[in-house]
Amino acid sequence: MNSRRNFLKTSVFAGIAIITTPSLALSTSSNAYSDKYLIGKSTPKLYGKGYRLLWRAHEAFLDMDNAARKNGMRIRVVSSYRSFNHQNLIWTRKYKRYRSRKLSSKTAVEYNIRYTAIPGSSRHHWGTEIDVVDGSIKTSRYPLSTKNFHGYGIYKNFREWMDDNAHKYDFCRVYTNDHTRRGFKYEPWHYSFAELAKPMLKEYTERDVQSILKDQELLGKINFTDTFIDQYTKDNILGINKSLLV
Ligand SMILES: [Zn+2]
Repeated sequence: MNSRRNFLKTSVFAGIAIITTPSLALSTSSNAYSDKYLIGKSTPKLYGKGYRLLWRAHEAFLDMDNAARKNGMRIRVVSSYRSFNHQNLIWTRKYKRYRSRKLSSKTAVEYNIRYTAIPGSSRHHWGTEIDVVDGSIKTSRYPLSTKNFHGYGIYKNFREWMDDNAHKYDFCRVYTNDHTRRGFKYEPWHYSFAELAKPMLKEYTERDVQSILKDQELLGKINFTDTFIDQYTKDNILGINKSLLV
């Protein structure tokens, strides 16, 4: 184990100091993260060249990338932190595309939530998530496609390396290839820095997810009934790799 990982393992107090920074703290002392933070409406301090992560996730990422480089790969982050507004741009673009194909509003929302989180519920709001590919391979095709990671796909070796090594740096695949899992489709590219993301998810689900999502001005919101949001919470927000649940 290298020195940085030792640092991460032993600096428990440093971790507490980070999560209780006043800008992130709520008025109630039991919460380490504010409502605004958890839904991508704050402005957290983020780090990284070509990506944006919280400090500890950034440090762990650098270690993981160094190890990948020793194996001839380079971890390219396609997406990391996304604000509420950024997520809403993605949500809106996809929703409109489905609507333009004459799909109903309800179906457009159902199609959206196969891969795209409702703004205000994306793990990408937290500064702990990364969508990654092997940057040492040049390609003109869209990188985040499952086909690329399996069979003769260009990122098959990279996916296998990540399968074997990401956990050493506390990065964990979120939307696994487990057929009993519901919610978002399998995403071989999406990893979460568990140490920070686990407590964030716990805090998030302790909030009133119904009102968080109903309070936003979003396309397709008419479909956000109580039943829909309960199901979405169970399937999409909590339908993840069990090792990321507290
Ligand atoms: Zn992602």
